[in-house]
Amino acid sequence: MLLSPASTPSQTGHMNSRSAESVRIEAVSKMYGEFRALDDVSLTVEAGEFVAMLGPSGSGKSTLLMAVAGFIRPDRGRIFFGGSDIVRLPANQRGFGVVFQSYALFPHMDVMANVTFPLNVRGVPQDEARRRAAAALDVVKLGGFGGRRIGELSGGQRQRVALARAIVFEPKVLLMDEPLSALDKTLREEMQMEIRELHNKLQITTLYVTHDQREALTIADRVAVMNKGRIVQLDSPEAIYRRPTDEFVARFIGEATILPLAKARGMVAGDLGAVEPSARALMVRSEDFCLSRAGGDGGWLTVSGLLRGIVFQGDSWLLQVDLADGQAITARAQKHFSAEVGALEVGQTVELHVRRDRVHLL
Ligand code: ADP
Ligand code: MG
Repeated sequence: MLLSPASTPSQTGHMNSRSAESVRIEAVSKMYGEFRALDDVSLTVEAGEFVAMLGPSGSGKSTLLMAVAGFIRPDRGRIFFGGSDIVRLPANQRGFGVVFQSYALFPHMDVMANVTFPLNVRGVPQDEARRRAAAALDVVKLGGFGGRRIGELSGGQRQRVALARAIVFEPKVLLMDEPLSALDKTLREEMQMEIRELHNKLQITTLYVTHDQREALTIADRVAVMNKGRIVQLDSPEAIYRRPTDEFVARFIGEATILPLAKARGMVAGDLGAVEPSARALMVRSEDFCLSRAGGDGGWLTVSGLLRGIVFQGDSWLLQVDLADGQAITARAQKHFSAEVGALEVGQTVELHVRRDRVHLL
C-alpha cells in the first residue's frame, strides 16, 4: 500500500525525493558454504514505499539488505532499480543511503564533517555541502549540532547523525539495518515515529530491517516476514497481524492461542461456520478472548478451562487458562474489565468467549 501522494513540500526545499523508484528483488539466493542464507527471495519495494523486513535472528534479513546495498553478491537472482539490473553494480555506484545498528560514524570528526562526508566524496563544493548538511540535520532535529563532537552525543543523537548522513545526498533508496536496536525502549519508540515522519516527508523508497515485530508494524507500509532465508508473508501490518498465513507468523507477531482444528471441534462450543478443507488450526489473539458476551452479531464461540494464573501487567491482565487436555490458552483482559477479573479466583473454571469473526483459520 502506498502512502498518500508524494507532494508534501519539505521544509528544506531540496530534501524532497519526488522521483522515487522501485526496488525489485527477483529470485535471489545466497549460500554460505552449505548454508542457504537466502532461498529464492522475491520482493518489490514500490517507489516511495516503506517495507520492513521482520524475522528472528539468522533468518537472512541483513543478507538481503546487504545484497540490495551491494555489499553482498547473490549467487542467483536479480535486483532491479529504475529498470536496470544492479546486481553487478558496486555499492558506491548505487547511490543508496545506508544506516546500520552501529552508527559507523567518524568519531574524530564533528557532526558537520560526518554529514558533509558523502557530499565531499561526490565533489559537492564545501559551501553547498555545509548548507545541505545543515538542512539534513534540521530534518533529523539536530539543527545547531554541527559543531559537536560525536563523543559528546547520546545514542539517539548519534543515530540521528547517521540518518542525516544517509539522506544528505538525497538517495533514491534508503536501507536501514536495525538502526534502533541499540537504543532503550522509550527512545526507540520515539525514533520509530520520527523515522516514519521523515519518510512521510521525503518519500524515499525504504527497506528497513528489524527483529522487533511492534517496530515493524509501527513503521512500515508493508511488512515482509522472513524465516529461514525465505519471505513467508508480505502484507500490510494489519493483515500480518489479523490474517497470518501460517503458524510461524501467527506466533512470531503478537500473542495468540493456536488450537488444532480437530481438538477445537471437540472443545469449543458454538458454530465455527464454513471451514476451508485446507484449514488445520484456528488462531485467536489473546485480546480477543472475552469473559462475557456482548454484541457480536456473527455469533460467539466458547471454551472453558481451569484458570491457572492471573498476572497484572498495567494496561491489561494476562489470564492463563488450561483446557481439559492441558493445552494452555492465553487471554488478555483490558483494564476496564477490572470488575470481572476481580471476581475470578485461580483454580476455578472459567469460560472464555470469542466472536466468531475474530477467529482466524490457519
Ligand atoms: P539476520 O540479519 O536475519 O539475523 P543474517 O542475514 O545476518 O540474519 O544471517 C543469516 C544466516 O547466514 C545466519 O545463520 C548467519 O549465521 C549466516 N551468515 C551470515 N553471514 C555469513 C557469513 N559471512 N558467513 C557464513 N555465514 C553467514
Ligand atoms: Mg541482521
